[in-house]
Amino acid sequence: MARVGFIGVGNMGSLMARNLIKAGHHLKVYDLSEDAVNFVVQSGAKRAASVKDAVADVEFVVTMLPVGENVRAVFLEDGVLAAADRNALLIDSSTIDVETAHAVHMAAAAAGFGMLDAPVSGGVVGAEAATLTFMCGGDKATFLKARPLLEAMGKNIVHCGGPGYGQVTKICNNMVAGITALALSEAFVMGEKLGVERQTLYDVLSTSTAGSVILTRMCPMPGAVAAAASSHGFKPGFAAKLMLKDLRLSQAAAQMAGTATPLGAAATAAYAMHISNGHGDLDMSSIVKLINPEI
Ligand code: NAD
Repeated sequence: MARVGFIGVGNMGSLMARNLIKAGHHLKVYDLSEDAVNFVVQSGAKRAASVKDAVADVEFVVTMLPVGENVRAVFLEDGVLAAADRNALLIDSSTIDVETAHAVHMAAAAAGFGMLDAPVSGGVVGAEAATLTFMCGGDKATFLKARPLLEAMGKNIVHCGGPGYGQVTKICNNMVAGITALALSEAFVMGEKLGVERQTLYDVLSTSTAGSVILTRMCPMPGAVAAAASSHGFKPGFAAKLMLKDLRLSQAAAQMAGTATPLGAAATAAYAMHISNGHGDLDMSSIVKLINPEI
């Protein structure tokens, strides 16, 4: 069983760390939030006093932080690269911009470390059930070394290619998810205003060419799918402000790639308006409120 330093034990990281402990790994955890650390310590992790303490004498370092600046700070300033053993394998599971992922990969390689960017999909439900999808970027040998550890936290462990390719894949997925939620919202509101029942729209769209996982699991219309956030007051799930973050990452990625993403741009603008209307903490499917505020 491996010695693991885990940094960032918030909504996702705490549940992922718990699954590593359940699988028999030895964890040291660090977070800026004392409460977040307490939660994982109660499950059997050791409390680390700092980033440097968390990464000293471990075989794997896993980070699960909000945004690229946090990842830069933890790796380059607070001590991951300075204090970890050179044989330790570094795994960043945060969803961050491609540029930062490249920069951190390069710094890690220059310091002699093997590293993966390994963002996830599946949300807190997947984190708790250890069914996350990991989208991994880095060299194949590093991926193969990390896979057994990732299997304790997820079900689909995919090697997407070289450094940063995990982030690119994750950003592509979430851009489509954001666009789809908005498109479904437009269709349902229009269809209902013209008299078609919600359930009829759902039954036909879900078995026709409009069908998608967003529709069948996260339908924006309350009542259409019993387990969806929309049927529970839009309690997240995946918060709208996180969807906006990922859509903004998609726009930075599009600029980097020099490609046009007209629908990604429209969805980004729509989510920005939705959040400025005060709905950032609702589930991302609440974007339907932008189309019909009465829902
Ligand atoms: P969170 O805010 O709940 O947790 C992040 C934790 O990092 C917090 O506890 C915070 O205190 C800690 N932190 C921030 N800066 C730090 C630093 N410098 N040193 C140590 N600790 C620090 O966020 P989350 O929901 O767990 O998401 C983490 C990442 O996973 C994000 O990039 C998010 O986009 C991604 N993600 C989230 C979900 C989801 O459903 N919540 C799903 C997939 C991916």
